[in-house]
Amino acid sequence: MQKNLVLLEELQRMDLRIDGHNAAKLKLQEEMAALDAKIAEARAAKGEREEALAALEEEKRALEENLETEADNITRSDARLKEIKTQKEYQAVSKEISAARKLKAELEEQVLQRISRIEELRAEITTQEETLGELEKGVDAEKGERQVKIDELDRVNDGDLVEREKVAKGLSASTVKRYEALRERRQGLAVVEARDGSCLGCNMNLPPQTYNNMYKLNELITCPHCQRMLFLRDQLT
Ligand SMILES: [Zn+2]
Repeated sequence: MQKNLVLLEELQRMDLRIDGHNAAKLKLQEEMAALDAKIAEARAAKGEREEALAALEEEKRALEENLETEADNITRSDARLKEIKTQKEYQAVSKEISAARKLKAELEEQVLQRISRIEELRAEITTQEETLGELEKGVDAEKGERQVKIDELDRVNDGDLVEREKVAKGLSASTVKRYEALRERRQGLAVVEARDGSCLGCNMNLPPQTYNNMYKLNELITCPHCQRMLFLRDQLT
């Protein structure tokens, strides 16, 4: 039984170490995902501006087409004006021309507005591209640092898992199974020390009989409150 306790305590210690490394690895992976999300966000913001730019350029093209049509109308009406014989017709065509000129001026104004907004957007996109480039560089470095740490944790865990299997082999399959089931139910902690009359897993007082039984080393003693397997520090040596 004493050998079992030594092995169980060792198994628990190794599993906690592996758990700790896995938790650290998970945290690093989450940080890497957050860094990727930051890049994706910056790319999406740039994409939005690029779409807005494309829409504005399309609007500008359409306005310029209208402008060209109006300019043609004015040229044609100006030509007609020279051939007109009656005063009434002259007035009608003149009115048409002045309406077309007004429209043309409005269209020109709208084109200018688009041009100025397009220039603004282009400048914003350039800035975003620069920021994104810097961000990508920074993120690459930060991810690289984390990957190094993850690789190191993997390396250590690989060794620990081999060691852990060696320790587990020293125990009966049913004890290992019981230990693992307990670990699952008790936040990873299945084997705990009993000290000063208490279970250090749940901090409850142990009945004197439980304590006495532990000294006998006949069987595996568990805490009546949390069911964890108990050992006494001096039983490990
Ligand atoms: Zn307990």
